[in-house]
Amino acid sequence: MDLSNENIVHVKKGDLEYLQFRELLKYSDRLVHCYSLKPLMFSDQNINAPENYKKICGVLGIDDSKIIKSAQKHTDVVKDIKEYTNEKFEFVDGFITKEKSIPLVTKYADCTPIILYDKSQNVIGNVHSGWRGTLQKISQKAVNLMVKEYNSNLNDIIVCIGPCIKQCHFQVEEDFIDKFKKEFGNVEKYYKIGEVVEGKQKYYFDTTSLIIDYLTENGIKRENIFDSKICSVCHSDMMFSYRAEREKADRNMNIVMLK
Ligand SMILES: [Zn+2]
Repeated sequence: MDLSNENIVHVKKGDLEYLQFRELLKYSDRLVHCYSLKPLMFSDQNINAPENYKKICGVLGIDDSKIIKSAQKHTDVVKDIKEYTNEKFEFVDGFITKEKSIPLVTKYADCTPIILYDKSQNVIGNVHSGWRGTLQKISQKAVNLMVKEYNSNLNDIIVCIGPCIKQCHFQVEEDFIDKFKKEFGNVEKYYKIGEVVEGKQKYYFDTTSLIIDYLTENGIKRENIFDSKICSVCHSDMMFSYRAEREKADRNMNIVMLK
């Protein structure tokens, strides 16, 4: 199976497979990025994770000893990285940097990976947006930080939304809809009414469209937003998915670095 589409290239190099955005490949002289695929595992508990970072970073030309990653506790906190540090970033879910040779990593099993790139100021961002992060508009907060720290112009920021649980599989209940209503007002266009299970009405929610809409409402150009259009649950044979595999799900990783 090849996951390539108009926005994504599915790369196969020896026994390694990963996804890249066509749009970001246009800036290959300035940055490198990818979203990992199975069988590479990147959860912190996995004893093979360090070796896997070495493997994939080796192929991409990245020094894996400089990786910046966080504990990802579904916060809305985004940090600007000015130099390499081995800090654990306990309550952080996103990074931005203007520094070269500092790889920013986030990890996934269904949550939404978002890479930001200001092609004019040459600033990157990598944001972990689970539904709680989406509710707290973490991707918008990363954009705001780029503007504040580096004077980014909204017209120059590219947004790449990686594989995640899409509407086809993102089954939620009333309480979830209520939380989003409270934050975003009318969210009717973001969900479909599903089945009733054990007396509970189910809904199918489209977090990707919601993210695209609030970013564009806040000044990001629609034509600068690129969606992978890949559902992690539909393709759980190729990527880790919490919905599909539950506790057995390891983690995929999303990496971006300025050269
Ligand atoms: Zn799906």
